[in-house]
Amino acid sequence: MERTLFKEEHIIFRDSLKKFLDKEISPQFEQWEKDGIVPREAWRKMGENGFLCPWLEGKYGGPGADFLYSVAICEELFYRGITGLVAPLHSDIIVPYIHSFGSEEQKMKWLPGCASGSTLTAIAMTEPNTGSDLAAIRTTAIRDGDHYVVNGQKTFISIGILSDLVIVVAKTDTKAGYKGISLVCVEAGTPGFSRGRHLEKMGWHSQDTAELVFEDCRVPVSNLLGVEGKGFYYLMQKLQQERLVASMMAQSMAEAMLDMTVKYCKERMIFGSPVSSFQHNTFKIVEMATEIELGRTFIDSLIVDHMAGKDITKKVSMAKAWIPELANRVAYHCVQLHGGYGYMEEYPICRFARDARVISIFAGTTEVMKVIIGRMMGL
Ligand SMILES: Cc1cc2nc3c(=O)[nH]c(=O)nc-3n(C[C@H](O)[C@H](O)[C@H](O)COP(=O)(O)OP(=O)(O)OC[C@H]3O[C@@H](n4cnc5c(N)ncnc54)[C@H](O)[C@@H]3O)c2cc1C
Repeated sequence: MERTLFKEEHIIFRDSLKKFLDKEISPQFEQWEKDGIVPREAWRKMGENGFLCPWLEGKYGGPGADFLYSVAICEELFYRGITGLVAPLHSDIIVPYIHSFGSEEQKMKWLPGCASGSTLTAIAMTEPNTGSDLAAIRTTAIRDGDHYVVNGQKTFISIGILSDLVIVVAKTDTKAGYKGISLVCVEAGTPGFSRGRHLEKMGWHSQDTAELVFEDCRVPVSNLLGVEGKGFYYLMQKLQQERLVASMMAQSMAEAMLDMTVKYCKERMIFGSPVSSFQHNTFKIVEMATEIELGRTFIDSLIVDHMAGKDITKKVSMAKAWIPELANRVAYHCVQLHGGYGYMEEYPICRFARDARVISIFAGTTEVMKVIIGRMMGL
């Protein structure tokens, strides 16, 4: 499908990104999957080449590019299944909190490192007892003079091992419900902040997902992002881009899975004919191609609306509810079309299929998206 939203400058940027990923990242990725972590050096190289936070203005260390540069980075990483080096999470989901709600002093302190890859970020919302129900978090950040004293436990935190700066979602007022939630930045090395388990997952093996522990962790009041008690509003505001980025990840993975499967099915001969030529398989491929095309059209229209500053809450929730589920359907059928080879690690479809699974869970589950859409439809 010809896409009209990219200009020549984006295409040139994408070409250099592709070359970089194919030379510097893809050849090492399998080893990182075995190691269970992406080396810092890879993040640094991404930063060095302008592939982290490309939208940051010059004074914060970026080139001040538009959102389409972020789109290109997300698409190229996820088309290659490079889930572990989850730059879109750092660049387009977490760093925007600092940029939008941080003080000038905080921005000057942290953003240049975010762009260069020397300051990796994480956002810690989820806790062992609560994920979807964010207002029920138990982590507290209680004011004591010039500090907040943070206590609590977070889990499933991406970039949880490598992160240098964690935006902790905590209650600064335990009696105010969601109005008592604030965002407090905790730097690595702060006494009382430690990493728990590096979690073993079904997929995304090179992505460092971890538990974080805060025990009487004293954080300067100057590390509060924005206004105390506004954390929940900030999250609601930024979750739209998060859902868009997650949908883009799933869309690119679905496109990659279809492409690799079409290639395989045209080459693999059974009963004297290519697998793709059996009508059942042709229909299956055609159905997937059609749904993937629909997903692409939908996402591209959302990118345009998002860049124009429109409220995309309802439609992006629909995209997040539908496209990761589509990627999972595609994963299932593509493995099936590969036969036994689809279950073998040496074929990329195997990893893609297990890596696609989680996108319908993080950044708001399919069910939570449907709750939001239903509410917005007045149901
Ligand atoms: C690999 C990975 C990376 C992650 N990275 C991060 C991160 O960086 N930072 C972070 O804070 N969190 C992160 N998460 C956590 C993720 O956001 C949560 O797992 C997700 O929000 C779901 O929460 P939960 O796991 O507690 O499930 P629960 O909230 O316990 O949900 C269980 C089930 O109930 C369903 N459900 C929930 N509410 C409703 C409802 N109202 N109606 C119907 N069904 C409902 C859910 O859809 C789900 O199927 C990550 C998770 C994973 C797996």
